[in-house]
Amino acid sequence: MNKLFVLPLILLFSCNNKPIKAKVEVIPYAIVIHGGAGNITPNNFSKAKQEQYKKVLNKALAKGYTVLEKGGTSIEAVQQTITVLEDSPLFNAGKGAVFDSEGKNRLDASIMDGKTLQAGAVAGVSNIKNPILLAKTVMDKSKHVLLSGIGAEKFAEQNHIQFEDDAYFYTKRQADYLKKVQKREREESLQSSASIYKGRSPFLLGRLGWEKYGTVGCVALDKNGNLAAGTSTGGLTNKKFGRIGDSPLIGAGTYANNATCGVSCTGIGEYFIRTLAAHEVSNLIKYKQLSAKEAIKEVVHTQIDTLGGVGGMIVLDNKGNVAWDFNTSGMFRAYKKSTGENEIAFFKEKAVGKLEEK
Ligand code: ASP
Repeated sequence: MNKLFVLPLILLFSCNNKPIKAKVEVIPYAIVIHGGAGNITPNNFSKAKQEQYKKVLNKALAKGYTVLEKGGTSIEAVQQTITVLEDSPLFNAGKGAVFDSEGKNRLDASIMDGKTLQAGAVAGVSNIKNPILLAKTVMDKSKHVLLSGIGAEKFAEQNHIQFEDDAYFYTKRQADYLKKVQKREREESLQSSASIYKGRSPFLLGRLGWEKYGTVGCVALDKNGNLAAGTSTGGLTNKKFGRIGDSPLIGAGTYANNATCGVSCTGIGEYFIRTLAAHEVSNLIKYKQLSAKEAIKEVVHTQIDTLGGVGGMIVLDNKGNVAWDFNTSGMFRAYKKSTGENEIAFFKEKAVGKLEEK
């Protein structure tokens, strides 16, 4: 019982005051993460690569789960989990983030507390080691929700947030990918990276090699029944003109509300902004009484799909139900619940397996 959060405990009494029925709803604590959606198939991911990703996802999940296990808050769990993913060069967040058109890493992140509906976010920041920590600091120590660019960096300095030089964020993989995208855009003479994808089916995008995986996100439900969600990204490769995606926008890429669920999204942000995807999932649960699974299916496969968008999302509802969905060929994802249920998966077809025991 100590590992379980119990809500509500309803005792019904008969006329002679003897309990006649006890209904106990047991809600597990739980954590779910993603590491981005995109063109992820067994064919373009060697077994060795899969092992590398599995290891980091395991480590991140274990970090957040331990926070929850020890009675910590979901906000703490989300921030610590995302920090592990930001510190890995495998993902498009923190170290290893994508480059914009100027060859710079400009990072976006957000975090939201489902109990208080407080939120913090940063957009277009450079040289911040852990943007998710900065987003949480915005939530905790400023009266604002979203800070951007140089202003956000000044705020980071004042709050003793760790900076790193450009070399820390650099990976050859992302430098090569920038060259590839720039070449493709030159060839297609397109004005914006988003327009590359406009109107094209996910199937076609898969064939075009849309490889935008790597944004990271996490949703957690703690022992007190409080939800939190967070997302961190470098955005889209070769982004221009101060482009900001959905990840730092509360309601688009991230949302948490104890009344419904927590959500973190990944994909081409423009579509998630236009559909207010994360908040839409919460609304569908609240006003249409859809399950988390049904709500996410509606948003990903109807609303985003109809606009020609691609991506995916993870959801954890206030009863501890986990759901995930995507219209790409894969999405890095994993979850663990205090009931013992867990899964780690990359592709559409089947799960990669169970999580490693700590
Ligand atoms: N959603 C992110 C953005 O548009 C990118 C991603 O999830 O891969 O900035």
